[in-house]
Amino acid sequence: MALLNVYTKQDRAMDSWMWNLASNGIFTTKKMASIIDEVILNNGSRPQDGFLKNNLVPSKVSIFIWRALKRRIPIRTELDKRGIDLDSVRCPLCDDDVETIEHSLLFCRHAMDIWVRVFKWWGLGAVSNLSINELFRGNCNRSLSPFMSKIWQSIEWTCGYMIWNNRNQKVFSNSSWSGSMGLMEI
Ligand SMILES: [Zn+2]
Repeated sequence: MALLNVYTKQDRAMDSWMWNLASNGIFTTKKMASIIDEVILNNGSRPQDGFLKNNLVPSKVSIFIWRALKRRIPIRTELDKRGIDLDSVRCPLCDDDVETIEHSLLFCRHAMDIWVRVFKWWGLGAVSNLSINELFRGNCNRSLSPFMSKIWQSIEWTCGYMIWNNRNQKVFSNSSWSGSMGLMEI
């Protein structure tokens, strides 16, 4: 990981990995994640330009959507573009394609399984030719009233957020993907 010039060594007495990016010198994946978020993805400041508000969802969901639209979530191709050396940039869930934001949140068969069911529930048309922008900015359903559009947008955002959380659980805890469980959460 040349970008950060990280130095690690195994300290046998402490049985932990050491590096020079934490004040106590101890490497933790939590600290690593916060450095990726703040330094690599530039998420240290509060969202500003282009931030969309929807008071039907918690702010953590709105912030996630804003970051996804700004390409500031730790998706493999985005980390690769920013100089992080990864073993693979392929989707950790399906391995069918490289992991882009569009693939992970929309086109991956695990995500699409949820979108198809949610679109069907709302009686809306095909989801397959949408972009992330159209999906999360709510440009895909002009037939809905402003009030229903807001509700629909909150469902879309919650789906996106939940798909991302499921992806992370799979990557970091190796738990299995559960589409139906995800739909129940929504
Ligand atoms: Zn995939």
